[in-house]
Amino acid sequence: MNATGAAMVDVAIVGLGPAGRALASRCGTAGLRVLAVDPDPDARWHQTLGVWADQVPPWLQPHSCGVDVVAHRVHGPALYSPERAEIRREYVILDTDRVQAALPLGDGVTVEAALLDDAEVRALRARAHRVVDCRGAGGPGNDGPLQTAYGIVVDTAAALPALGGESALFMDWRQDYDDDELGPGFLYAVPLGPGRVLLEETCLAGMPAPTPGDLSARLRSRLRRRGVPDSAIDRPLAVEQVRIPLLPPFRGPVEPRVEAFGTAGGYGHAATGYSVAGTLGAVPAAVVALGSGRPLPRPRSPLATSLHGVGLRALLRADPATTRELFTAFGRMGVDQQRWFLDSASPSYQVGAAMWAMWASMPAQQKAGMVAAVLRKNARDHAGPGGSARP
Ligand SMILES: Cc1cc2nc3c(=O)[nH]c(=O)nc-3n(C[C@H](O)[C@H](O)[C@H](O)COP(=O)(O)OP(=O)(O)OC[C@H]3O[C@@H](n4cnc5c(N)ncnc54)[C@H](O)[C@@H]3O)c2cc1C
Repeated sequence: MNATGAAMVDVAIVGLGPAGRALASRCGTAGLRVLAVDPDPDARWHQTLGVWADQVPPWLQPHSCGVDVVAHRVHGPALYSPERAEIRREYVILDTDRVQAALPLGDGVTVEAALLDDAEVRALRARAHRVVDCRGAGGPGNDGPLQTAYGIVVDTAAALPALGGESALFMDWRQDYDDDELGPGFLYAVPLGPGRVLLEETCLAGMPAPTPGDLSARLRSRLRRRGVPDSAIDRPLAVEQVRIPLLPPFRGPVEPRVEAFGTAGGYGHAATGYSVAGTLGAVPAAVVALGSGRPLPRPRSPLATSLHGVGLRALLRADPATTRELFTAFGRMGVDQQRWFLDSASPSYQVGAAMWAMWASMPAQQKAGMVAAVLRKNARDHAGPGGSARP
């Protein structure tokens, strides 16, 4: 009971994005009493979520949850830097409606619609034994580096010239576009399901990051040069804009019984922007921790987080040629080393080994460029290295 005589719940979860919804759903299934708060608890997720097939956790497989959450599978997506490499790992696009269906907020979960500020999140300690902040990494408190992208969805026939015979383009760093001012960026091209392909121009990390207008202009010139019909570019089936904060927000000093999970808690990968697979993978351990009174698991070791930070620093500061050479090195690595770098929960020795392997296989000039980039004070402006006054 709390001071008003109401029963305390086991855990209050604030934010029902992928992290909060998965945690609330699995806590409810595990028999915990949950209060889940979000301004729009039933909002559909519209972002295209891609993960590696081996990252879909067992409890989200059809035999466990009764729902097939995969909308489309791609075997061996290609990487061009401009050297071609095939990533020998199956990539899947999640069906976000089915993911939400597989994460029901059923018995034991009380849902409230509210937008809570930091003080109101802390105040939930009067109603719950544990409070978990899953409000994401966005919001005004985060003016750090961003990943931005602009994509259009076109029908399969229109996308064929962009794909150039590949099943999907995980990253296409070729410079077949008109502008040269925007800095390094890549085309991400994946089928979303029958008849639909997403073609997305992406800036992996920027500070400042290119705007949707900048990216849309580059996407248009790239697709026109490849022969995608103007009609498909001008009248796409859908448009997607991506804005992913690459570092968690600073939300003040640690408070007793208030923890954070998902991107709010640093579960995102600072050098790739991916978070969903890592967060879903951490849910079972988080549920056990909440049920047994132990602290939530950390997303990874502090050293691994620092190494991701070094990777982000390099991406923000390296000149375009060095950046492309880095991904040539990435494409030449074995799939295990690629996995060590990409998976957000990899231990530090794996992250370090993968980063060392990439650096060691770069030509001498780009090796030096990488070191200079990491040591450089300012982030690259769109025009090139060191051009920005920003940190
Ligand atoms: C277009 C797009 C494509 C993407 N593609 C991928 C991908 O392929 N793979 C990948 O891993 N990631 C991808 N991402 C990033 C991914 O969507 C996010 O990293 C992920 O959603 C983070 O999950 P989260 O639950 O931690 O936070 P969020 O998804 O940000 O959810 C936060 C939740 O908290 C709620 N909330 C916010 N403020 C408050 C408040 N004050 N009070 C109460 N509730 C609040 C929000 O309503 C929301 O429901 C993509 C993002 C975008 C935009």
